[in-house]
Amino acid sequence: MSPATVEADPAQQVLNAVFGYPAFRGRQRDIVEHVAAGGAALVLMPTGGGKSLCYQVPAILRHRAGQGVTVVVSPLIALMHDQVGALDEVGVPSAFLNSTLDGDETRRVERDLLAGRLVLLYAAPERILTPRFLAMLESLAERGQLALFAIDEAHCVSQWGHDFREEYLGLSALHERFPQVPRMALTATADDHTREDIVSRLRLEQAERFVSSFDRPNIRYTIVEKDEPKRQLLRFLRDEHEGDAGIVYCQSRKKVEDTASWLSAEGIPALPYHAGLDADTRRRHQDRFLREDALVMVATIAFGMGIDKPDVRFVAHLDLPKNIEAYYQETGRAGRDGLPADAWMAYGLADVVNQRRMIDDGEADEDFKRLQRAKLDALLALAEAHDCRRVRLLGYFGECYGDGGEHEDDDAAGAVPRLRCGNCDNCLAPPATWDATEAARKALSCVYRFRQQGGKRFGAGHLIDVLRGKVTEKVAQYGHETLSTFGIGAEVPESQWRSVLRQLIALGHLRTEGEFNTLELTAGAREVLRGEVQLLLRVPAEAPRRGRSTRTR
Ligand code: ADP
Ligand code: ZN
Repeated sequence: MSPATVEADPAQQVLNAVFGYPAFRGRQRDIVEHVAAGGAALVLMPTGGGKSLCYQVPAILRHRAGQGVTVVVSPLIALMHDQVGALDEVGVPSAFLNSTLDGDETRRVERDLLAGRLVLLYAAPERILTPRFLAMLESLAERGQLALFAIDEAHCVSQWGHDFREEYLGLSALHERFPQVPRMALTATADDHTREDIVSRLRLEQAERFVSSFDRPNIRYTIVEKDEPKRQLLRFLRDEHEGDAGIVYCQSRKKVEDTASWLSAEGIPALPYHAGLDADTRRRHQDRFLREDALVMVATIAFGMGIDKPDVRFVAHLDLPKNIEAYYQETGRAGRDGLPADAWMAYGLADVVNQRRMIDDGEADEDFKRLQRAKLDALLALAEAHDCRRVRLLGYFGECYGDGGEHEDDDAAGAVPRLRCGNCDNCLAPPATWDATEAARKALSCVYRFRQQGGKRFGAGHLIDVLRGKVTEKVAQYGHETLSTFGIGAEVPESQWRSVLRQLIALGHLRTEGEFNTLELTAGAREVLRGEVQLLLRVPAEAPRRGRSTRTR
């Protein structure tokens, strides 16, 4: 590059000379130039996409231009330490303020800040909003020495998201007190709803939006029918991830403990992690996971945020996450190094029922519950899908696969969106489908007959027995062999019935109630009964061979 171009392109110069990188990635350049020029921005970029440079380069440029310090708001202490350490290595004066500093250290940072010696200051939101800190910011602002606010993990401001932090709500004060200081918000996860929430709560209505492709092409998505989850997990680990590091997510602490000790007994090095363990154990387990190559961390969602281990080769879910954002965030911890990685999940009818019940029994108000249900439904649709998982996943984030991202082989194909990714279970082995419309009508009419005959409700197991014409004790007890719907679905295997019921619940035609999860028709059932809805379902995979250890029935 000639000296002239260097002159003309200060952002590029900083990238090369300070950070030692040859080129910006994706939308980094646009973002950097916009923010360096004083524009407000909302940046959505997947994990590992390079968000830090989006505020670090403008911070350096604005500091050089005499505009003072950039304040980075972050909830993650570990991340602040890492970043300040890295900036130190490349010679950019920066510091953090958080609870790990003692009084002397804090005062030194404050002195440096007020004296204009810092290019970047990292601080937790609760720190920024203290009167003492706000007063320091006022004094800087009065002298034109407050260059930029960068709000990282901005989704934490949204109560609709999965990671709400009360302290983030107070950040709207930044706009009120410092209207002249440019602000940018960054996040790796935000569906439409969360995005609008960020904009309104952080007062970023005027901000330019920079949305990168959320595709993680090296992650292979697989969702299997839950049959014997622990054995299925073991088979997945043995067949595909011998000697790899990975995370297995479970919903409950007890299941975390059970699964970790079971894996260890099976010869796979595994440790538990959940909020019920004492801080010391948690830290030890986390350290070992970060250091070792072949450790499986079995964890609740308490584990993960801010964990930056590049070579996590798989993320497995033994239970359904709350919604697609959570699924994306959790699976996104795999393959940050860009090498092939797996997102694997086992999912079944009980998951649907459990998640619904957790929402129904929750403390939230009705509006919030309605939204949670809608978000769960979207995840269920992803789990039940028989077409490309990636197309659906990205579609949820408003991205049309094949026309948003930068795919090198797009040139020849023009701008035609690609509808298959070639790196998910459904693309690699397209599942057979069957028309379940008729079966769905049979199931719903059977639930209707239960109600007509005595008004009692029953669960999925009993419904399937009746449909398949099985004379069980319960069937005899309630005289259900006399129902007109008894045995009308004998030709459909049990696994397929389960998939029909799952889908009917997922689509809201059927719901479960009470502690026994009995089935009840919804208003939406009518459409199915009238034949207005066509159901095309995946044929459940053959139940895998199970040697001698068959389940007891
Ligand atoms: P995020 O915060 O979006 O998860 P980071 O800012 O931590 O991502 O960046 C992820 C990794 O990519 C880091 O190791 C970073 O140094 C590297 N990186 C970011 N931008 C570039 C670039 N333009 N060229 C080379 N490496 C980059
Ligand atoms: Zn695909």
